[in-house]
Amino acid sequence: AVVGAGAAGLVAAKELLAEGHRVTVFEQGPVLGGTWVYTPKSDEASRPSPGPGVAEGRVYTSMYRDLRTNLPREVMSFLDFPFLPDAMGGRSHDTRRFCSHSEVLAYLEAFTDAFSLRHHIQYDTTVTLAEPLPAGHENGLTDAAAVSSNGQRAEANGHTSHGNGQAACEDLPWPRWRLSLRQAQRKGSKQRHVSTQDFDALLVCNGHYTDARWPEVAGQEAFPGRISHSHNYREPSSYKGQRVVCVGASASGTDISREIASTADEVYLCERGWDGDVQSHPAAGPRGNIHKRPGLISLRSDGRAEFEDGSFSQPVDAVLFCTGYLYSVPFLSTSAVVGCDASQSSIEPLYRHLFPPTAAPTLALLALPWRVVPFPLAQLQARWVARVLSGKVAPPTHEELRADSAAFYKEQQEEGRRSRDAHYLGEHQWGYNEWLARSCGEPADIASTPWRIAMNNQASMGRRAAPEDYRDRDDTIDAKAISAAHADFASLKVPFLRELQA
Ligand code: FAD
Repeated sequence: AVVGAGAAGLVAAKELLAEGHRVTVFEQGPVLGGTWVYTPKSDEASRPSPGPGVAEGRVYTSMYRDLRTNLPREVMSFLDFPFLPDAMGGRSHDTRRFCSHSEVLAYLEAFTDAFSLRHHIQYDTTVTLAEPLPAGHENGLTDAAAVSSNGQRAEANGHTSHGNGQAACEDLPWPRWRLSLRQAQRKGSKQRHVSTQDFDALLVCNGHYTDARWPEVAGQEAFPGRISHSHNYREPSSYKGQRVVCVGASASGTDISREIASTADEVYLCERGWDGDVQSHPAAGPRGNIHKRPGLISLRSDGRAEFEDGSFSQPVDAVLFCTGYLYSVPFLSTSAVVGCDASQSSIEPLYRHLFPPTAAPTLALLALPWRVVPFPLAQLQARWVARVLSGKVAPPTHEELRADSAAFYKEQQEEGRRSRDAHYLGEHQWGYNEWLARSCGEPADIASTPWRIAMNNQASMGRRAAPEDYRDRDDTIDAKAISAAHADFASLKVPFLRELQA
């Protein structure tokens, strides 16, 4: 089973099917695409956010109306399905390299059809609970479980011998998973359908950009203005003529503060990490009305905001927290096996951001790393899980799982790293991709190609140097990287691509 039909869940389904597994994707919403399904609705009315979980009636996506991707489309491409208008079978309506969210959704739909994934998705079905089946139901231990998901009979007691002759699993029992499912209430019906289903393996792809992180700021109860979070931001009109504090200058904060500045009078963009004396930075933005400020430390009842350097803003009308999101897997009953840390900043313990050491390889949590290129990374994770489950490649041994994850958490503690950075990869994503690719038996640079790295780096530099217009500047186009990407895509031996292009 796969939880979620966003980018990660879709590519997980594709990779599992490629390995001959039987697959059901459970999606709580009525359509595929996850984050990329824009709606003008928001959770604004329920501040603070309704809390993590699978509460009904919540707005899932944090997408805003005018978002354009912060990565060029070639970089975002899955490994074997180019994100190019030509490959999208007439679905493309925005050929820009940094395109709109609706173009990304169209890409995911084209991907879904190209790999015939639609009939594997069960919509309007929320996974409310996932629990390992009790002892005696493990894979390889009972009759039912001895038939692996690709229909081949496994040897008893988890000792599965595979094509490459490696022992797939030492003496670990492979837990099977019971899912409790709740169907959305049909119109006119007072009842909702609930059921349970058992699966050999569970791939969790439930996303991590929905549960808003609301920082505690002194004085916010007495602050007379509006307080909101980027999860609920859709478009700037309601900030017209106002003074606004935007807290956080990462990808969303930088973009959203500029959108708001197009209609607001003044925007204070606060962030802890600015270089140098931020008060001396010139006002930014197309209308010169974005003022950089250090971190926000308090809000006052007269509407003023106080910053870390002791300075104050003019009284402001609104504060918008662009302070990120919390991890949440409310349906996993396995807190002893894996769960969120106390501040919901990471999921632990995990082996290489993917497998809980004591439930590997039949429980995997995909697409958790951040500051990465998520589509190809999730695809490699899914490919590895799919191949481990089919026995094509050996899973890590019990000792490797235990020792590797223990070392990771020890290092995190010794280096005093925040748990919030546990899944931060940044530059390390390329090495991580290479390691995943090798583990899958693929060439190491399949996702860490020089063109993907070069384009990604160039986009990051552009975002910093020219946040205004880096998406449209000719001088940031690396023609060599683009032609290398296109040559790579052209060499893909995927029959449907030729059909689609014809
Ligand atoms: P999601 O897309 O969040 O999908 C998870 C799915 O799981 C959802 O459909 C949800 O309904 C479903 N689900 C959750 N819980 C349950 C449950 N209990 N039962 C059943 N279904 C469930 N990435 C880029 O590459 N480029 C960008 O430019 C970019 N811009 C972004 C801008 C914003 C504002 C945000 C929020 C993210 C952006 N990202 C970008 C990152 C983006 O999140 C990833 O690209 C990708 O969409 C993550 O896919 P996912 O499948 O992991 O999660």
